[in-house]
Order: sequence, then C-alpha cells, then structure tokens
Amino acid sequence: MLKPTRVLAAAVRSWKHTLNLPQSAFPARPSVQDTEQYLKSCSDELYAWQLEHRPASLPRGASITSNDVENNIFVLHDGPPYANGPLHIGHALNKILKDLILRVKLAEGKRVHFVPGWDCHGLPIEMKALHLRRKPQLEVGQAGGDTQLQNKGDGKRQTQGGHTQVSPVEIRRVARELATKTIEEQKADFRKWGILGDWDNAYKTMDKGFELRQLEVFRKMVVNGLIYRDYAPVHWSPSSGTALAESELEYDENYRVTAAFIKFPLVKLPDLLARHPGLNAKNISAVTWTTTPWTLPANKAIAVRSNMDYTVIELPAHGQLLVSKDRLEHVLSYLEEASPHIIVDSVQGSDLVDETEYINVFSGESRPVIHADFVKSSSGTGLVHLAPGHGIDDYNACSKHGVAPFSPVDDDGKFTNEALPSDPKRLEGKTVQSEGVLAVLELLEDPRTLLQERNSSDAASSLVLAVHEHRMKHALDWRTKLPVLVRATKQWFANLDKIKGDALRSLEKVDFVPNTGRARLESFVQSRSQWCISRQRAWGVPIPALYHKVTGEAVLTGESITHILEVIEQRGIDSWWTDNEDEQAWIAPGLEGSYSRGTDTMDVWFDSGTTWTSLKPRPTHQPAADVYLEGTDQHRGWFQSSLLTHVAHQICSTTSEPEITAPFKTLITHGFTLDQDGRKMAKSEGNVISPEEIINGTLLPPLKSRKQTGKSRGASRAEVTYDAMGVDALRLWAASADYTNDVIVGQPVLQAVNTSLHKYRVTFKWLLGVLANYKPTPSERTSASATTKTVDKIAFLHLAKVSTIVHSAYASHEFHKATSAIYKYVVNDLSAFYFETLKDRLYAGSVTDRTTAQRVLLAIYEELLAMLAPVSPLLVEEVWAFTPEHIKSSVGEHPLRRLWTPYVTGWSDKEAEAFQKGVAVLESVHDAIKRVQEVARTDKKMGSGLECDVRIDITEDASAASSLLMSVPSGELAEMFVVGNVTSAAPEVAKESTPLKEQGSPDWTYEADFVADAGRVRGKVLVAAPRGEKCLRCWRFVAPVPDSLCKRCEQVVEEMNTEVPGS
Ligand SMILES: [Zn+2]
Repeated sequence: MLKPTRVLAAAVRSWKHTLNLPQSAFPARPSVQDTEQYLKSCSDELYAWQLEHRPASLPRGASITSNDVENNIFVLHDGPPYANGPLHIGHALNKILKDLILRVKLAEGKRVHFVPGWDCHGLPIEMKALHLRRKPQLEVGQAGGDTQLQNKGDGKRQTQGGHTQVSPVEIRRVARELATKTIEEQKADFRKWGILGDWDNAYKTMDKGFELRQLEVFRKMVVNGLIYRDYAPVHWSPSSGTALAESELEYDENYRVTAAFIKFPLVKLPDLLARHPGLNAKNISAVTWTTTPWTLPANKAIAVRSNMDYTVIELPAHGQLLVSKDRLEHVLSYLEEASPHIIVDSVQGSDLVDETEYINVFSGESRPVIHADFVKSSSGTGLVHLAPGHGIDDYNACSKHGVAPFSPVDDDGKFTNEALPSDPKRLEGKTVQSEGVLAVLELLEDPRTLLQERNSSDAASSLVLAVHEHRMKHALDWRTKLPVLVRATKQWFANLDKIKGDALRSLEKVDFVPNTGRARLESFVQSRSQWCISRQRAWGVPIPALYHKVTGEAVLTGESITHILEVIEQRGIDSWWTDNEDEQAWIAPGLEGSYSRGTDTMDVWFDSGTTWTSLKPRPTHQPAADVYLEGTDQHRGWFQSSLLTHVAHQICSTTSEPEITAPFKTLITHGFTLDQDGRKMAKSEGNVISPEEIINGTLLPPLKSRKQTGKSRGASRAEVTYDAMGVDALRLWAASADYTNDVIVGQPVLQAVNTSLHKYRVTFKWLLGVLANYKPTPSERTSASATTKTVDKIAFLHLAKVSTIVHSAYASHEFHKATSAIYKYVVNDLSAFYFETLKDRLYAGSVTDRTTAQRVLLAIYEELLAMLAPVSPLLVEEVWAFTPEHIKSSVGEHPLRRLWTPYVTGWSDKEAEAFQKGVAVLESVHDAIKRVQEVARTDKKMGSGLECDVRIDITEDASAASSLLMSVPSGELAEMFVVGNVTSAAPEVAKESTPLKEQGSPDWTYEADFVADAGRVRGKVLVAAPRGEKCLRCWRFVAPVPDSLCKRCEQVVEEMNTEVPGS
C-alpha cells in the first residue's frame, strides 16, 4: 500500500523525472552490523544521559520560584531473578514490562532509577553445587576441607538429613562460583534486550554489603522481640532435609493417600453420658477420620465443636461409637454393618469438651477432648484427631489449651524411638508417609499389645473401623517434587502477629495493577501469624545465633548480633563457616561459658525481602520505590516478604515515622507465559520457547529464498533465512500482551508481531522518503488550525486521537492497548487512507501542495516515534539515524530523550465534535464509493480507482452533518477519495439537478446508497466512467484531450522549469 501508486510507478518515462518520488535508504530489516550501536545508544547511553540531564527535583506547582520542590526521581525496584540457569521467556516478559514503564516515565520527564539485582542464595543453587562437587571433573576447582557439616550445639541436627558429605565451606565456595557465573550470563542477555538500568552497580544478595544490611534489619527485629525460637510445626521436606516456607511448596491436587476411620477408646465420660442406662463405659470409642494415619502416635487431643450435635450408636462388631449426628450416615457408608442401634440420640459438643478423655494407645496416655473452630459438619466424623506436632491448625488449637507439640519423626521423615515408647523397634526407622502408615494401621488393627493395661477383652478388637484410598491436595517440595510433611522442630520464627496489622494498613495506600492483587496479598498477609525463617542449609546468610555448648541454650540478642556484624565486617561472612569451631572472636564480650556458632541459614525470602535496603533513602513519606512489578506468584513470595520486612523495620526504628509505609507505591503483577495451547512451558513437554528464538525469527517459517538465477539454481541449497526482526520483536510481543492474565506465546502471535514491525518499518521508510526534500520553517511547525485542507485536518484529528489513547494507555500501564491502537492507526488511518490520498499531491503536486502535506507528515513522523519509543527503541534509534539532518535540527531533541505530551489539534470540544460528525459522513461516502468501485472492477469496467468520476447526492440531512462534505472543494474531494472528478449536491439541489448518468452519457455507471449520523443523513453515490482523459504525468483522468497533461500538471511542470535548474 505504501508503494508508489501503480499508476505513478508506471508513469510515462519522459515525465518521471518531474515527479517527486520518495527517496530513502532505510532498510527493510534491521541490519545486524548497526544493531549493536543502536542498542548501546538506546539503552546504556540513554540511561546515563538522563541521570545527568533530568533534574532530581522540580518546583512544585506552577511557581518556578517556589522553594517547595517535588521529587522528580522515579524508582522501579527490581525483584531479583534467581541466579540459576539461563533466562527464559518469563524473564523477558518481566524485564521488558519494567523497561516499558521506565521509558514511559522518561518521556514524562522523570529521572528514572533502576538498579537490577540477583537473588543468589538458596537450595536450588546449593543442590547444583553439591551435584557439581560430587563430579569434580566438571569445571569446578579444588575441594576444600572435607569435613562433615557439624552439629553446632543446638543438639537437634546432624548432617543435613544425611544428604551430603560435602562441607558447608565447600558448598558455599562452589555455590558462589555458580551464582557469579550465572549472573554474568543473565546480565549479558538482559542487556541485549535493551533494558535501561545501572547494570554495573547491580545488587546481589550474596554481597557483603547486602548481607550486612539484611542482618541489621534482622538485628532490629531481634531487639524489638519480633524474632523467637520455638518448637513448632513447619513444612519439612525429607527429600531436601530442611524446613520449607509456604512459597517453596508446590501442590499436587490429586495426591493419593491412605485414609482411615480410627476408634479412640474413651476412658472418662461426662456425667450426662456416664449415667445413661444403655451406655457401656468399657466399650465406647470416639470415631475420628484421618488422611495421615502416621500422625496417630503423635496424637495429643481430639477436637469437637461445641455447638454441634453428637450421638452414640452401637454396632455389634465395633461396640459403642461416638460420632457427629450430621456425619453418621457418611461414616456408616464405609462400614459393612450399616444398621446401628442408637444408644444416645443427641449430646452437645459443649457437654463433651473438658469432661471427656480417651486413651492414645501408642503412648498409653489419657488425653482430653477440646473444642476447635475448624471442626466442620461437612467432613470427617465431627471429631478430629489432633497431632500438634504435625499440623499447624492442630498446633494452634492445642496451644490454647497448653498442649505441647510432639513429633516423633526425624529429619529423613522416619519414626524415632519415641513413636512407640513401649516397643520402640516396631516403628523406629520406618518412613512415615509410606511404610509408617501401614505399620501404624497394623498396630491398631490388633491393639492387644498396646492395650495390656486396659484389661478389657472388648477393647481389644480392632481400632480401625475402615481404611480407604483418598485423593487430596498435598504439598510437594518445589525443588525435588517429593511430598512434604509437617513436623515440629526447633526453628527461628518472626512474629507476624505484631507486624501484620501495620502491614495491612500500609497496603491501603498502595495501588494495585490489576486490582485483584490487593485482596490476594491481603489474604496472604492476614492468614500468617508466624514466619519460619531458619533453614538447615549451607548456602545462605547465617542466623547469627550462638549456642551454649553444654546446655544448648541459644543466644540471639542485639549485643551479640552487633558484635557478630563487626566480625563479619572484618573477616567476611564465609568466616562464620571457615573459622575454627572454638574461635572466640565471634563471642560477644560478657558471654560466660563456651559457645559455638549456629549452622542455620536464613530463609532466602528474608534475603530478597530486604532488597529495599539497597535503595537510596527518599524524602519523607515517600515509599522506598514507586513500582514493584513481578509475577502473580510473588504475592505469597517476594511482595509479601518485602512488605513484612519493610514494615517490621519501621516498627523497630526508634525514629517513629508518623505513618508506616509499604516499600512500594504501586504493585503490578503479570501472569505466566504459556504455549500456544495454553500449557505451561516445560523442558519435559518440549514446548519451551526461548527469547532468542523470537529475536532471530526462527519460530516462524523460513523466508522464501531469493529468486535464484539460472546459474546458481541447483548448484547448492540456498541457505535458510528467517525473518529476524531483532530485539524489538521480543519487546513488542511483551508489550502487546495483556499481562494481567497469563500470556500466550506461539507462532500466530509472533507472526502478528513481525507483521506489525514490518508495517512500522515501511511506514518510516516512506515518511523518511517523502520528508527528504522538506525543509520546514519554524512557522510551519504549527497545529491543525493552520492547515486548510480537510484531508489534512482529518489526519490531524486521527493523530490527536491515537496520541491521546496511547498516552493514557501508557500512563495506566496498559501497554497492549497502546500497541493495538498504534497498529490500527498505522494500518487504517495512515496506510489505507491518508497516505493514499497524499500520493498524487506529494509526487505530482505543486510545491505548496507538497509542503502542506509534508508539514502534516512531519507531525505524524514525530508522534509515531514518540508512541513507539518505549516499545521498539531500536527501531526508533535506527529511524533517527536515517533521518536527514535538516529534519533532525527542526525536530530538535532525540525522540528517546524528548518529553512527550499527547498531540492536540487546538480545536475546542465543540469544533472537534462538529468536525467529527462531518468526517463520519465523508467516511460513509468513501466506503460507498469503494464498494461500488469493487463492483465496477469485477465487471472489468475500471482498473485504478482514479479511472472514474463520482457524483454524490445528499437526499436527506436532518442534522446538517453533510455541511462539511458540501464545503470541501470538489478537487479536494477527488483527492480524498482518490478518484477522477467529484461533484456533489445538497438535498434541494440533488432533486433538481440532472443525474450524472445523463450528463455526457458515460459508458457505464454504478450506484449505491449511504447512511450516516445514525440515519439522519442519507444519500447516494454514483460512480461513472471518467469524462476526462488520462494525464500523461499523473495518470488522473482529468486531462482535457488524449495524450496530454492535466491543467495542474502543466502548471507544476512550468513552475519547475522556472525554478533553479537541477532542482
Ligand atoms: Zn496530471
């Protein structure tokens, strides 16, 4: 469409030199050799430039002289990617979205700060290091001291669950090497994507400075009593040998477990029941249901609900059973014996609580029945077996009654000898989640050995009512994909109950994009009361605790940490591991006795949660960063740990701020990247798409090989080439995505991206071509009101519209709306309409015709560069490099550096509205003409659109909307519709005038109706054979006689001849 009109391209040779055809060397595809320079200038050089030239603050309000200044620095804080493995498409989406925001802010005049960072510690890198260390021939150097991970005095842990023989010192050395290498590789790739940022000063969570800041946050929390040590249930991964945070879990929605209905023999009854005549106090049991039979040895209580009804029934094979009334039918459905004898119809839960006791046959203890809110009438039996050492809810319910957790399970997920104290060997060493389940059920099925003391033949029957397979959601270790269990261990915790109120309040001032993020983050914060921050790993920041060598007592105080921080400052953090076990330097003065250093490391979410400490302090009341932007999974990960540590730090600061703030002002989340069929990308699925494949175009079918000459044909197979549109393709893909949902990447969407980029390139090529001979004067660079041609006014109107849409879409971070508006504008408003109408004027018109058009085109060129600047900076940079100097000097600032405000027409709303109405009529007429022309073409009456005359009759106009059409001179109408002659008639004239088909009796005519302004304007267009002859120069059918020039062309040629020779 942007090629010179066929007519003009084929213009008679002798007149061709008098035409002003576009001239530009702008290439069809980005040229590889120049890309590097464009990349450098549109990213690193631009970032450095704005740091120097954009002011840090601006006068507030209108008054320049005001002393009141406003911070002009925009801070986007980078959520650190994990320094493990190559970058994938999800990284591209994330970093490019951040870059789009930075570039939009840059265009708004801000100075932008973006310091990229990396998350370096944690299990995946440690695992990799272990793996490499076991294969020393693989690129990793010499082994360090090969001592086993030692138990440093807390008396609980041994050797990372027996998973490694490699020393922590060695693990740390290899892990650091791995992280360092990965960071350099990832950094190089990020920079190839044109991401603005301070890459040379990136933060790393393994840097000493970072670790010291992080430990300082931790120290303050310790001083303020927010950190405590407790024996409490945590998610424990036997396969990794460590505690896991919620964010380190994955879930199997359809996990298979062995569930069982278990009887607990009651040993004490409330009077109400004891007095009941039918009741057999020696053979009555509470019925519970469990999906984790291996936790039964750790049972410490049974929970009922006070306001629920219970009943006692009797079944010959099972004795008397206590069960919730609502669940009776459900329980019976699992039993063969299904017609019970009702002994006690109804007893309230509140009557059972505190008055009832049962026996735990594993420990032989009598245990209480208590109330718990989570007991439901919709599942189980209405009586819940509680093992506070193996369930968070159980722990919370029990701790209210002073019932301590008990967990006879070791680091490897096997029973300890405490599981069955009377006969330890029967359970000890069995893996709880597999053989442990069977062993426990076996014991309960024949409980005689367990119930020796009870001396009751009745009670010696099986305590297992029924066993069945059950499918449920179950937590897995995100790394090993193996099941996790809940287990009480001694860990360090942050007390979130003291933080979350302020954290939730601080979120009230945060903007969420999309809005659904608010409820999500709030609910995650709301639902947590503790944060287990200790990990039994080597590759991390140490929890700076000391343990008394004899008593095992932990020391973690403000003073002890301050002292340890000083030692780290001098010796480096690795010394915590490398120093001799008895090194006294770490022990704070004043501590009596012999201490050793702890081996726990901090949860990596505490590392990354404190990345806000790397940001420069800002003026009061301003959040540490303007924007945090990550994937939706970070609501329970980084967003949350950042919020909690930031709020905790403020709570702990002595200088009490009037208001506690979140570290972010706006929180933006994006979805995941999925393949064409909406599936997650995974190596095992073979559907992974790499960013590089988008950049080099290899995901699209190869380009058809160039026309081969006879000689080369068959000589060698032509090299396969791809439509490589470079980094801009990757960027445009990211920008085009509605990232608030999951983002699809596949051939169709990438094809569309390449099509758009080609469209933009040819558009710029043409613009550069037609602007090549334009030397604008300052007075010409004015707005729409200065132009008189209606078609130019329409162009300005379209430009103002798209500019406003794009500007506001960018401002609200809706990049896909911007890219879609730009594409539609270029295809419809420019390529299919305005540029078509301009070709005759630009190529064949007079100097005045041409300059008035060029004036509009220059505005379009500038605006298009501004609109595309955030999305495709390489293209913009390249266009600028090909822009003639005189245009550059007229435009002034580089398009990536200039401030961008939306283009305005300068018209009042009323004017714009009236004009818009008139334009709608013109568009209806134009559509009708094109429709009719198609019919005429099908009938082989005409070829070029120029080869016809048009008559427009308005038959009805109830809104005066056709007055614009009537006011446009017929020559301009012909230009606008790209036809020969146009005549038009208003309603009163239309009735009287001679129909076109009768004027000079044309060879052929076609007619069509049109309607505009919601039916208020109606009319008819008549397309007929042209009356004029084809002009030899411009090929319009407006020449008076055959083989001549039209009047306009004659004048133009004459004008040229009188101009300076050679022009
Ligand atoms: Zn002509």
